[in-house]
Amino acid sequence: MKKVVVLGGGIAGIEAAIFLRKYKFDVEVLSDRDYLFVYPISIWISTKEKKFEDVIIPLEDLSKAHGFKFTKGKVSQINSDDFTLEDGQIRRDFDYLVVAIGQEKLKHKGIEYTYSICGKPEESLKYAESLDNLIKKGKGKLAFGFGGNPKAKEAVRGGPVFEVMFNVDYYLRKKGVRDNFDITFFAPMPKPGERLGESALKMMDMMFKKLNINSITGKKINEFLPDGVLLEDGIKIESDLTCFVPAGDGHPAVKSGNLPQTEAGFIVIDRYNKVKDIENIYAIGDCVALEGPDWKAKQGHLAEVMARNVAYNIALKEGLEKGEPKSYIEHINILCLMDMGNGGGLAYRDDKRAILLPLPIVGHWMKKFWGLYYKLSKLGKIPRLPGM
Ligand SMILES: Cc1cc2nc3c(=O)[nH]c(=O)nc-3n(C[C@H](O)[C@H](O)[C@H](O)COP(=O)(O)OP(=O)(O)OC[C@H]3O[C@@H](n4cnc5c(N)ncnc54)[C@H](O)[C@@H]3O)c2cc1C
Repeated sequence: MKKVVVLGGGIAGIEAAIFLRKYKFDVEVLSDRDYLFVYPISIWISTKEKKFEDVIIPLEDLSKAHGFKFTKGKVSQINSDDFTLEDGQIRRDFDYLVVAIGQEKLKHKGIEYTYSICGKPEESLKYAESLDNLIKKGKGKLAFGFGGNPKAKEAVRGGPVFEVMFNVDYYLRKKGVRDNFDITFFAPMPKPGERLGESALKMMDMMFKKLNINSITGKKINEFLPDGVLLEDGIKIESDLTCFVPAGDGHPAVKSGNLPQTEAGFIVIDRYNKVKDIENIYAIGDCVALEGPDWKAKQGHLAEVMARNVAYNIALKEGLEKGEPKSYIEHINILCLMDMGNGGGLAYRDDKRAILLPLPIVGHWMKKFWGLYYKLSKLGKIPRLPGM
């Protein structure tokens, strides 16, 4: 059987490995962490509603459940006919390569004074610890924000920041100390969250007022300081603890190699996820440059569609499937169950509609249920629901 190497053991890479194994390909997943970090449910680490162990799936367990090989290793360069590991080893032992190594974050001046909940998994734990230390002090100022990448608009990741902010607000209320804390939201774009549609913007505005959250938007971020955020025009947001998610940037292993890539370092693919002008390399998930409408966003569910398509498209090339190759473009939509600690809202956007459905109480439990479903179904312990 043909050998497929998947680089990256995240949401996209693991879905690809699972579906490639269904065609009995010889599959190896190479990843720098020995667990899959389920980012969508990691938002609850900050408020200790989930432990770190609840948010990971060991790759060894997935490897046993689906019969792929797992190798721990860090890729430092990806080229059109090989890839290099951190220890200098150059590998060409594959018939197909699937690149699924996610994205980097843009580096802002003073970023070390902030915590990102979307970067290295351990940072969420550090944020939780710092938040608790501040709560012990009895009062403080909290800032939450996200940035943009002018070279890749779809690489903005704002949803999780809103989710963590609303969860922290609720956490402080439950502890009866919310009045002792100032919360400020900031973002350089004038209407952050606008790609979710007008109704989402209105609801966000309403929530900010109801929860007494200050909002400063449309101001460029100059730098982060130990005690706050310096914006253009000399405006300073005082903050004892800043949670900030920079926009995504191309992965260093892609940037240092010769795969076709955009100015920002995202891999150029066709609609079937095949890397432009290369026959046996595919790329999926956050590491690719997305085609499609202005409001497009990089999300886990799209990463999974790409992964399943790639397994099918490779099987088609090998004569194991009949029909036409599958494209990801028709599946571009935004589907976001935004958690607020004690409820949530379901935001959906496609070419025709932008809907926001408030889901008090039940929204929170739906997201919790999804997390459990995700882990158990990936491990093959429960059957999959169609399309999920
Ligand atoms: C906090 C948060 C909440 C989110 N919530 C949602 C949500 O509710 N709904 C939704 O649809 N999407 C959500 N997303 C987006 C979603 O998680 C991503 O789109 C998805 O994880 C992308 O999958 P990926 O496999 O491309 O990247 P990742 O999940 O980032 O996986 C990349 C993998 O590659 C590995 N890797 C990285 N560098 C190397 C290297 N040099 N060598 C070897 N391996 C490497 C990493 O260890 C990782 O396993 C959220 C994201 C975050 C951060």
